[in-house]
Amino acid sequence: MRIAVIDYDRCNPDKCGNFLCERVCPVNRMGGEAIIIDEENYRPVIQEASCTGCGICVHKCPFNAITIVNLPEELEEGCVHRYGINAFVLYRLPVVKDGMVVGILGPNGTGKTTAVKALSGQIVPNLCGDNEDWDNVIRAFRGNELQNYFERLKRGEIRPVVKPQYVDLIPKAVRGKVRDLLKKADEAGKFDEVVKELELENILDREIKQLSGGELQRVAIAAAMLREAHFYFFDEPSSYLDIRQRLRVARIIRKLADSGKAVLTVEHDLAILDYMSDIIHVVYGKPGAYGIFSQPKSTRNGINEFLRGYLRDENVRFRPYEVSFTKKSERKSQEGEILVEYPRLVKDYGAFRLEAEGGTLYVGEVVGIVGPNGIGKTTFVKMLAGVEKPTEGEVDWTLTVSYKPQYIKVDYEGTVFDLLSKINAGKLMNSFYKTELLNPLGIPDLYDKKVNELSGGELQRVAITACLIRDADLYLLDEPSAHLDVEQRLAVSKAIRSLMAKNEKTALIVEHDVMMVDYLSDRLIVFEGEPGKSGRALQPMGMREGMNRFLASVGITFRRDPDTGRPRANKEGSVKDREQKERGEYYYV
Ligand code: ADP
Ligand code: ADP
Ligand code: SF4
Ligand code: SF4
Repeated sequence: MRIAVIDYDRCNPDKCGNFLCERVCPVNRMGGEAIIIDEENYRPVIQEASCTGCGICVHKCPFNAITIVNLPEELEEGCVHRYGINAFVLYRLPVVKDGMVVGILGPNGTGKTTAVKALSGQIVPNLCGDNEDWDNVIRAFRGNELQNYFERLKRGEIRPVVKPQYVDLIPKAVRGKVRDLLKKADEAGKFDEVVKELELENILDREIKQLSGGELQRVAIAAAMLREAHFYFFDEPSSYLDIRQRLRVARIIRKLADSGKAVLTVEHDLAILDYMSDIIHVVYGKPGAYGIFSQPKSTRNGINEFLRGYLRDENVRFRPYEVSFTKKSERKSQEGEILVEYPRLVKDYGAFRLEAEGGTLYVGEVVGIVGPNGIGKTTFVKMLAGVEKPTEGEVDWTLTVSYKPQYIKVDYEGTVFDLLSKINAGKLMNSFYKTELLNPLGIPDLYDKKVNELSGGELQRVAITACLIRDADLYLLDEPSAHLDVEQRLAVSKAIRSLMAKNEKTALIVEHDVMMVDYLSDRLIVFEGEPGKSGRALQPMGMREGMNRFLASVGITFRRDPDTGRPRANKEGSVKDREQKERGEYYYV
């Protein structure tokens, strides 16, 4: 079975030399019609039945607009929805089960939202034909766990509730105070309970537009929890939250399922996905072209298979390399050349005071910065960057610093290419940067897009790139994982490591995703204290000591998966959790 997908946002027949694909197609040249021109819409259409799959058009199209893939025949009957001719195709769906949290793991653009739209009745799946009819859908899923679900959905018995992915957009759509919003949502009569569990007491009388990302996230989760529904979908519930808040949210989502509700969640923080899901589906395919939901898998096996890039039951390799977590308990980065010795620094805002111990940063190392929200991490980074002046201590070095803030604001009118060229055109042409940074982050595909029209994940990748192509001695990146899927998080981590090592530079990364911190960092700076009141930054320390210190302060223990070495959060009060706490080993076991 062959599918041809054309990204019409990229296709530009006038600029490729007048429908280049049609002119080079060997079938067309022999008088056939694999590619025809849709005169009305002024665009090419590939007829899958006539196309031989030679791939010539794919390689010739200067805008990489065409994807042709051969898929196994047996997938055909699993075809759930296609948005049109040469459009994105979704194969198979995740299961939805009362009393269970079903996790979804996979790249953005592979149909997770499409699946949720089908399961919530926002679209009637067309089964890749042109007939949108619930009876057909029910027939197609006969004997499948979803048959009964779709029957109930058709009868209007299923009410879905969705916590959206981009919480930053909420203030544009909703006005007023947090309390009013949540009171209005409270069909379940759980206002007090949910407000307490999500620690929202202090912000109930704030205006929505004043909230930080982490606060918006918790308000959005609360609003979903308060609705009375059958099926709850949480799209990336961890963005902007610190680790303690992430685990708290994970527990609340679990509790919702324990009360008998069906929960589906997309989550890219693997430690959190692992902690909250009963089963998971891996989604694979090509973003923008097609997506396939795997069979349901046990959470542990599913995540391990995902990291290996190989799905055993399906016998599919979807990534050429495995992701492994080396036991780098102590890297020896401290033995190299010193980049800077910074002094004790204090910042006093009145209501909040940060005291940072002095420390040394080495050339070529990546230092993770961990700690709760509101503890002064950004303030510390800004003092090092020279953006914020310390109350005590002096930053008088001549280091150049490149900084990516947590919240990325754009008021740039031009394209991604214009923006990045202005920052450092040379690096865009440099082959090392192409292979290590630009291609892995998919930046060339974004070159022609307007910066102010990018999605959250695209903007994040552009902002990270903009930070890393600047010439500087010290790179500071505040929460680079936000809005990125797992593949992109790994790509960013690899890129940062290799750029620092090769260029002999230093990076400080503020990050809450434990897997990413583990994968990325040579050493850690741990922040302790009382969020919103006072913070203390400890001097940089080794990974083992730092992780122990950090996790002890939040009361969470992690073990390592014996197969992949990835960090897994222990359930609170479990045998492992108690044993590790007794030994003071919160990590690295
Ligand atoms: P995910 O949630 O995994 O990021 P989506 O389900 O949102 O993925 O989208 C998958 C693909 O489907 C995207 O590449 C998008 O371009 C395409 N798509 C989504 N909605 C439509 C639509 N209404 N018409 C055509 N294509 C669409
Ligand atoms: P983190 O990055 O760890 O979330 P921040 O450094 O952003 O923490 O903030 C720490 C505390 O300092 C917060 O309580 C915040 O409200 C306060 N704060 C940050 N910037 C200012 C400022 N310019 N004036 C007053 N208080 C501030
Ligand atoms: Fe030209 Fe590519 Fe569009 Fe074909 S798909 S018309 S080659 S831009
Ligand atoms: Fe024509 Fe080959 Fe492209 Fe198919 S893959 S449309 S046969 S050029």
